[in-house]
This record gives sequence, structure tokens and C-alpha cells, in this order.
Amino acid sequence: MATTVFRDCVLLDCTGAEPAPRSTVIVEDERIARVVRGDEPTLPRDAEWIDCGGRTLMPGLTDAHVHCAIVETDPGKARRDSVATIALRIKDVLEQTLDAGFTTVRDAFGLDWGFAQAIDRGLLRGPRVLFVGPCLSQTGGHGDWREPHHQHGPVEGVYGLFATPRICDSPDEMRRAAREILRTGAHGIKIMGGGGCMSPTDELEHTQFTIEERSAAVHEATVQGKISLAHVYTPQGIVNAVEAGVRSIEHGNFLDEASAARMREAGAYFVPTLTTYELISAFGASQGIPANMLAKIDKAKAGGQQSLEVARAAGLKIGSGSDVLSSMQPFKAMELALKAKVLGAHEAILSATRTNAELFGLADEIGTVEEGKLADLILVDGQPLDDVALLQDTARVHVVLRSGRICKRALEPTSASPP
Ligand SMILES: [Zn+2]
Repeated sequence: MATTVFRDCVLLDCTGAEPAPRSTVIVEDERIARVVRGDEPTLPRDAEWIDCGGRTLMPGLTDAHVHCAIVETDPGKARRDSVATIALRIKDVLEQTLDAGFTTVRDAFGLDWGFAQAIDRGLLRGPRVLFVGPCLSQTGGHGDWREPHHQHGPVEGVYGLFATPRICDSPDEMRRAAREILRTGAHGIKIMGGGGCMSPTDELEHTQFTIEERSAAVHEATVQGKISLAHVYTPQGIVNAVEAGVRSIEHGNFLDEASAARMREAGAYFVPTLTTYELISAFGASQGIPANMLAKIDKAKAGGQQSLEVARAAGLKIGSGSDVLSSMQPFKAMELALKAKVLGAHEAILSATRTNAELFGLADEIGTVEEGKLADLILVDGQPLDDVALLQDTARVHVVLRSGRICKRALEPTSASPP
């Protein structure tokens, strides 16, 4: 049995408890065996020691909305690279994500099953990956990337590596696509339930898919015990999605009291993604994003903070997603700082740990530092409750464990036996 002992940490366990100084956490194989607030009187002799020196030990961060396989904002540009190059670029994104302290990510469209398999087999260092593969979009919807003058789509995906949107225009097509996706072991089904910023021929206010279409796909996920995610902005779009059985509302920038009440009744999770609007609004023009898309970004950005206030007042379960793509990949932890402006640092951190774990259906395994759970842990320099922005600095994430394995260690080695 492999044992790792974290000594003298400030424990931020993300159960909602206040941080506990001088704590000890003992990891045996892949799980957390013991959590002691204050010094542990009986320490195992045969163990690897990590002297935390008062640094903060907390659960690995999670991100419920990433796009690790979208390495270029312009899908046509990405496809000029060889498949090998694309794969290596995705590998870089996943390794950087782990090094930044994210031990689980939900890829909300794009990444296909190949990297989840490779990480499971230990072929690369990466976070636990929950993938949905292709998203489902109607013709002319958020996943239809054609400009009006294009008859055919700009790019095709590479099966198993990265997926492009699946266009569906009937309940039968939705059902078939959902079954195809679920058969690859996908975490759930992602539906484009309304217009989007980065799509050329729709508006944020548009609702997309009929009730029958949405319900057909969600039904397939539900009978397999899987979740459905909907990209959606407007109150009507949110209500439509919830009525169809969607339980993960992505973005939701125009959430109002009535749609929030409907979400609460249904037990749906709210996953705002503030970072992407912040970054694209600031840097999109220099990245060549067209003016009509930037206008939509600014409109969505303006609603983001208010939707979070509405969600909080309604008592919604608030998850955490950054929705970063291409060159924005290193900025996942910015989401916590943006959220903290409304929720405060502690609630923002809980959304990216405990609440996301519940949303993923993994509340018994990850999200808090508690005995019996998987040892997904990070040791950070400083106290994120006092300065949540420090989580944006990868260099301050000194140690990363995923399922008990030390994946990153940027500390001086310490003695192999108890002092
Ligand atoms: Zn997204």
C-alpha cells in the first residue's frame, strides 16, 4: 500500500467548514484514509511525507464547461494542422489544466472519447475527463457553423479525437445522434437550445429545437442515467430545456426570477460561464473575431453578473464553468474570481469543488477532502479564501494529486520518515 502524508497544512476541505490550520491528511493508495484537524498523534512510519509548511490543502478544482479540443477559435484554421499536431495540442491543454490544479473537467462539447481513454490508461498526465463528444444543433442553430453563403460545413471532426456539432432536425435524428454519442461512453448529451455568440446565423434571443426534438435526446440520456446539458441564454430557452428534462443549464445569462423558480423546482443546476465573455470581449477583436459576434458577446457579458445574482437569490445550485477555448485555455481559474464578486470567495470555491462534484454525479468520490473519497488534492501557496485570484497562478499550485497519484510536485523533497 502506498501512503502519502500531508503534514502541517491549512485544510480547506470544501464541505463549507472554515479552514483548519496545522492539519494532517493521510492518503492510502487512491483514497483519503484520514483527515485530522490539528496534529495527528499516530503517524504511519512507511510513508511519503509532504511537509506543507502552512500551505493550503484543498480538493482539486473542477471545471464543468471546458472545450479542451477547440484549439483555435476558427474551426477551419484548426483543421489545417495534421491530426497528430491537433492531438499533441490537446495533450498540452490537458497537461496545463492539471498543472493549474484542475483534477476533473467536463468537456462541454468537442473532445471525443480518445483522450478519456488515454488518460485512464495513464498515457498522459491529465485531469479526469468527462466528455460529451459532439453537441446536437438544429440547422441554422448555434452548432451550425456555416456562413449564409456556405452550403456545406466548414470542417469535419476526427472520430475518437475531436467532434464537430451533429446537425439534427427531427426527433428521430436527435434520438439516433444521442444513441450514437452515448454508445461511446459519453458523460451526457449536450444540446444547443438557443442562439449563441459565436454562431454566424442566429441571435441570442432565438430558441432552438422543438419540444419533441429536445425531449427525444434527453430521454435517451435519462434512461441511461446520464445528464443532459443545454447551451441557452433566455428565460424561455431555459424553461424549454428544463421542461424537456435538461438538468445542467449552461451560460443562462438572461436568467430571470420565473425561469430560476422553474429550475429550482426541477432541481436543475446553473452553470454560468463568466470568463469566456470577459476574455473575448477584451481580446476577441485582436484574435479576428467578427464584429457581429463581439456585439453578441458584449450583450451576454452584460447579463452574466445579474444572472448570478438572480440564481443566488433563488437558491439555485450553482456550478462552475469557464467555457474557455483556444488561447484562453490557461484562464480557467479566472471564473472563481469573477464569481467571487457576487458570491464571495468561499461560495465561489465551493461551486468549483463540492457543487460541481454533485453536478457530475460524483459527490461520493470527489469535491471535498473527506475520508473515503478519492485523493484529488491540491496544495496551494497562500489562502484562496483571502485572495481567490491566487488560484490563477499555476506556479502557486505546488502539488497536484489525482486519485492518490502525485501528478505535480514543485516542492523541495522532505524527509522520508516522520520528524
Ligand atoms: Zn461552451
